[in-house]
Amino acid sequence: MADSSRLLQLDCDHVWHPFTQMKQWRCADQLIIERGDGFYLIDTNGHRYIDGVSSLWCNIHGHNVPQINQAIRDQLDRIAHTTLLGLASPPSIELAGRLCHITPGSLNKVFYSDAGSTAVEISLKMAVGYWYHSGKPKKNRFIALQGAYHGDTVGAMSVGHSDLFHRPFESMAFACTFVPVPNPCLAIHEMPAGVWASEQETLNQSLLDQCLNELTATLKCQAHQTAAIIVEPVMQGAAGMVCQPPGFIRGVAQLAREYDVLLIADEVATGFGRTGSMFACQHEEVEPDIICLAKGLTGGYLPLAATICSDEIERAFCGEIDDCRTLYHGHTYTGNALACAAALASLDLFEQNDLINHINQSAVIVSDCLEILRDCPHVLDVRHRGLMIGIELGQHQTTAELFGPASQAASQICLAMRPKGLIVRPLGNVIILMPIPAMDHTTLGHMLDIVVDTVANYPW
Ligand code: PLP
Repeated sequence: MADSSRLLQLDCDHVWHPFTQMKQWRCADQLIIERGDGFYLIDTNGHRYIDGVSSLWCNIHGHNVPQINQAIRDQLDRIAHTTLLGLASPPSIELAGRLCHITPGSLNKVFYSDAGSTAVEISLKMAVGYWYHSGKPKKNRFIALQGAYHGDTVGAMSVGHSDLFHRPFESMAFACTFVPVPNPCLAIHEMPAGVWASEQETLNQSLLDQCLNELTATLKCQAHQTAAIIVEPVMQGAAGMVCQPPGFIRGVAQLAREYDVLLIADEVATGFGRTGSMFACQHEEVEPDIICLAKGLTGGYLPLAATICSDEIERAFCGEIDDCRTLYHGHTYTGNALACAAALASLDLFEQNDLINHINQSAVIVSDCLEILRDCPHVLDVRHRGLMIGIELGQHQTTAELFGPASQAASQICLAMRPKGLIVRPLGNVIILMPIPAMDHTTLGHMLDIVVDTVANYPW
């Protein structure tokens, strides 16, 4: 067993954790995860916890999966990494073919990188470059959705909409137009208790119409200077699991076509089955011009991302060397061979285990088990699409009053689940659950029981 207190001291002395207030971190006892076993994480003291956030939304088949371990070992015995700048590699070639086959529409050219943010960054450059090389250099701006999160590099941050995350860096970001999303959660807060439940369908439709009308108005004024609309289709994860009503993403796609603007689907979070189809765009038969993938691409094993575009977009970058059309962008570990081997093994497991079907069965269990939380006075909303789940907390259901920004209720509830053997994380007032998609139904049921028990018995 590792020496926990020595490691904790070293961590406090030297590690700066992401999205973490380090002053708070250093005051509390922290877990150090040393091993993984299926759907469980094991800390340096030997305690086991269900991984309720899929290790930040990326794990797909569990930890220490023999098939993925073996694929990485086999690749390791050949070569760990070789550059894609001027050279090719078998796993990156095979994976590109597989990805083009399974992604929606006619996406056919894969540009690799290593994180969701870089996948988004590349998509923005592809879109602007496409119009530039097509003789329309003024189409260089973006439209994005309110509440969007696309990552933390400067371009991704610019098309993101989070005052909390980005305020100090506003001066670094480029301008972007944000349009409203039909956010039923906001509507819930503005109406008397019970109205939402009884008139959900009508309200969804009217929200949808309002938002698509606003997008139409924006495109009328701005399409001539807009390269692309970027969206997280179906579910805005980091906004607090905001589910879009059916028809929204299809409506956005139709407007993008109509106004000659590219559609970028950021499926970094929603991709690889999380929402109940392989890609969220497929729920509404939407064919984006560019898709961004990362997180679950390698089954949650290694950092790998892919930005995949149509032939037409890639063709705009083709020419003679002195035409200056080359996409001068790349990262040292682009298309890393070990990561591509893991991704290929992960795609095999999707097929072998009929994983999409399993996820849809799991989603029914989620609905059934969490239903009871709707009776809890401090639960304003329980929402999910597939296995992306948000439980929104507030002062009281009847007033739909939110907790103030200083409320620690969601994070305290998440911490209270740890001694019961579950790790989850909140986003503001929303408890986020992201069970590992391959999780067996017994473990899933156990996880949901811990959540219900902890929320229902919390000393508000
Ligand atoms: N896009 C979306 C929709 C995300 O949810 C995230 C991360 O949560 C990102 C992009 C950024 O991905 P990464 O953290 O791998 O840079």
